[in-house]
Amino acid sequence: MSSPSRLFARHALLPQGWRRDVLLEWDAAGDLMQLKEGAAPPAGVEVAQYVLPGMVNLHSHAFQRALGGMTEKAGDDIHHAPDSFWTWRELMYRFARQITPGQMEAIAAQLFAECLRHGYTAVCEFHYILRDAAGALYARPAQTAERVLQAARISGIGMTMLPVLYSHAGFGEQPLKAEQARFRSDANDVLRIIEALAPLRGGQVEVGFAPHSLRAASVTQIRQVLDALPAGRPVHIHIAEQQGEVRQCLDVSGRRPVQYLYEQLDVDARWCLVHATHVQPGEVAQMAASGVVAGLCPTTEANLGDGLFPLAEFIAAGGRFGIGSDSHVSQSPVEELRWLEYGQRLQRQQRNVAVTPAERHVGDCLWQSALQGGAQAAGRKLGALAPGCRADLLVLDDAHVNLCGVAIEDVLGSVLFCGNDNLVRDVLCGGQWQVRGGRHVAQDAIAAAYKRTLAQLRAL
Ligand code: ZN
Repeated sequence: MSSPSRLFARHALLPQGWRRDVLLEWDAAGDLMQLKEGAAPPAGVEVAQYVLPGMVNLHSHAFQRALGGMTEKAGDDIHHAPDSFWTWRELMYRFARQITPGQMEAIAAQLFAECLRHGYTAVCEFHYILRDAAGALYARPAQTAERVLQAARISGIGMTMLPVLYSHAGFGEQPLKAEQARFRSDANDVLRIIEALAPLRGGQVEVGFAPHSLRAASVTQIRQVLDALPAGRPVHIHIAEQQGEVRQCLDVSGRRPVQYLYEQLDVDARWCLVHATHVQPGEVAQMAASGVVAGLCPTTEANLGDGLFPLAEFIAAGGRFGIGSDSHVSQSPVEELRWLEYGQRLQRQQRNVAVTPAERHVGDCLWQSALQGGAQAAGRKLGALAPGCRADLLVLDDAHVNLCGVAIEDVLGSVLFCGNDNLVRDVLCGGQWQVRGGRHVAQDAIAAAYKRTLAQLRAL
């Protein structure tokens, strides 16, 4: 058996907080072994100043990376028909109709390399382009999911693949529109894809399930998949992103989406409720009590004009949350967490909102909470520098002026709230160094394939 790989951290962020002089070891499978605190650096072992666990990106639609910056022009009538989520979605559909599985892989690899460079070491892919351009299932039903998983392998990021159940265009089982033909799936399609992906599960890969939303999947269909889903697999759903979605749900069911979900299904800690943006106090309490993860995507929710989640109330109720980059207008956990906090400050006209009595440093509270929530949502052993967890860690650039002479309790405050330089220098993911000196190890080849793909798509 090969000897473990090691790294010595002058300061390491453990679950209980920053600790000095920690020797980290991981095995050939990419799992952390024992951690020794208060050790001296053994000869020949690399020494890092600041080491923290890599962040989990709990919500991604990878292909949308290629739309970045292309949907930022208002329509003709800016006074009477302001742009909204729904007009953005029309553009996204037009783009989604054209992409081939190979192009999907190239876009996803670029995205995942960028995510790694900025400190994400795991991603949950909410994957809904399942059919070909004509709306037929591929000969290999999991083909597009396999290509996104291949992109995860090329980049080295860990992945929870979530095949999406998507049958209806709106509440009341409205038929899909022509532009949604590539997304169409029923419970049997999704179960076939989940089964086809089973051999790919392993240290770096988990497979879960995602009913797209209560708009696009009926409760009967969701139950059908849940009944056949192996135990312990994560379940993600878009729940209450837009006011219009809440109104439509009320019209059809007499219930708000979160209320309706809890009335109809057994919602527990396997669930991640993505974009629980429009929720009332009773729903906040119910979510917190049931142990679900609230999947928050602040930069996308801002970009799409969704609204603000009641984070302070949710934290006070003991709720769990994580972050996702969703449409990928940002690939940085710093930007997600910063905007998560700033949205609350602007709304409440207060400072330092994301805190608890036990953790009054906003940066530490946000990073640790998003790690725990993200790990739960990913359904993988992640989110902590602890034995048995994946060896997913970040080494910060201690030579950067922002970290020069900073007290240890202000390190994450400096990372999250000071300037725009990326302070992530090296990234270890599943025991492999994927980023060194701020560069992804396969950055040039991945970017070249991405540029070729964008040239093809923009020429269409
Ligand atoms: Zn989404």
